[in-house]
Amino acid sequence: MSTLDILSSDERFVVETVREFVDNEVKPVVRELEHANTYPEALIEQMKQLGIFGLAVPEEYGGNPVSLPCYVLVTEELARGWMSLAGAMGGHTVVAKLLLTFGTEEQKRHYLPRMATGEVRATMALTEPGGGSDLQAMRTIARKDADGYLVNGQKTWISNSRRSQLIALMCKTDPDAQPAHKGVSILLVEHGPGLTVSRDLPKLGYKGVESCEIVFDDYRAPLDSVLGGSEGKGFAQMMKGLETGRLQVAARALGVGRAALEDSLAYAQERESFGKPIWRHQAVGNYLAEMATSLTAARQLTLYAAREGEAGRRVDMEAGMAKLFASETAMKIALDAVRIHGGYGYSTEFDVERYFRDAPLMIVGEGTNEIQRNVITRQLVSRGGLDA
Ligand SMILES: Cc1cc2nc3c(=O)[nH]c(=O)nc-3n(C[C@H](O)[C@H](O)[C@H](O)COP(=O)(O)OP(=O)(O)OC[C@H]3O[C@@H](n4cnc5c(N)ncnc54)[C@H](O)[C@@H]3O)c2cc1C
Repeated sequence: MSTLDILSSDERFVVETVREFVDNEVKPVVRELEHANTYPEALIEQMKQLGIFGLAVPEEYGGNPVSLPCYVLVTEELARGWMSLAGAMGGHTVVAKLLLTFGTEEQKRHYLPRMATGEVRATMALTEPGGGSDLQAMRTIARKDADGYLVNGQKTWISNSRRSQLIALMCKTDPDAQPAHKGVSILLVEHGPGLTVSRDLPKLGYKGVESCEIVFDDYRAPLDSVLGGSEGKGFAQMMKGLETGRLQVAARALGVGRAALEDSLAYAQERESFGKPIWRHQAVGNYLAEMATSLTAARQLTLYAAREGEAGRRVDMEAGMAKLFASETAMKIALDAVRIHGGYGYSTEFDVERYFRDAPLMIVGEGTNEIQRNVITRQLVSRGGLDA
């Protein structure tokens, strides 16, 4: 049975189309774009044509929606070609889901049709220089007055922020609220006076797309920019959005792990030492066996979480498990791919060094793996263990 057999024939076609796009359009250019750290304008344009930015947008708003398992497998394909491309549609999808689940009808009509085509791309701004894990300690504040909100504060590591026309900004509309999460709201903000993208952050991997510091200095947002129209709900809204975000990050890890396995499997059959292909040395063969086994387990865990989410169930624990396991798996596979490639594993003329630089982002991003363990433990206690 192929993994794609769990999808409808329409959804299989979507994944196969993205797979072909990756093999024909991405793989031939990725190394050059990566090392020049070039924004993949042409590839993003093709992704728009393929409808990838509309995968979480219902048809009535102009999208071409797919199930969460299909979304996971599309993300895996993109990341197999280049993790940066999967990153470019990750935050966008979370914001689309936030709008869909919590937005007012006016907010949906205003943004979703243009998000579906990729004309408007979106990102989310949570992390601040003072910390990303402890979100309730955030210092970005939106004060309400007669003209709307006056926003001041700083966010950091915001992916795609230069090129995203819509930013889902997590901030405090009531900094004195107790407990603190009751004072948090999400504002739908756009670039304008008072909002500066102050710096592109240099980074180990995730090249080509920008991750930036952004500064709000007396930025004006209209009253109706609060997601869903009422203040104080932003923390719970974002926690729900992160369920999709963590599935997306897990899927990105699957893609990086799969690329590393595929390259290693091919190399181990071409490369010879002591008169035989290196896969016939048991030590090398064992790496391949372990890579394939752990990747299959990670994919099944991620698809399980995606199916649960698709059924409408709460999946913070399941998405946390998928993100934790898939990202640690991708890191290990990427390291073992370097080993299998010997000296070439360390060469920038091969792709495996990129997988090794990209894999750690999935360990840190969308809530670190330490935070995932906290989420899993809390849920285990409150749900009374795992379902039988
Ligand atoms: C390339 C890149 C892109 C990113 N894109 C975005 C984006 O688009 N939008 C966005 O909002 N953010 C983004 N981030 C930020 C990312 O989500 C944060 O880096 C992450 O949440 C961790 O926050 P921090 O870096 O402040 O680490 P800290 O919160 O300072 O944590 C430091 C260490 O302490 C550990 N720790 C902290 N608290 C606990 C705890 N309670 N229990 C156990 N361990 C704990 C952490 O796990 C970590 O090991 C991006 C980051 C990177 C690197």
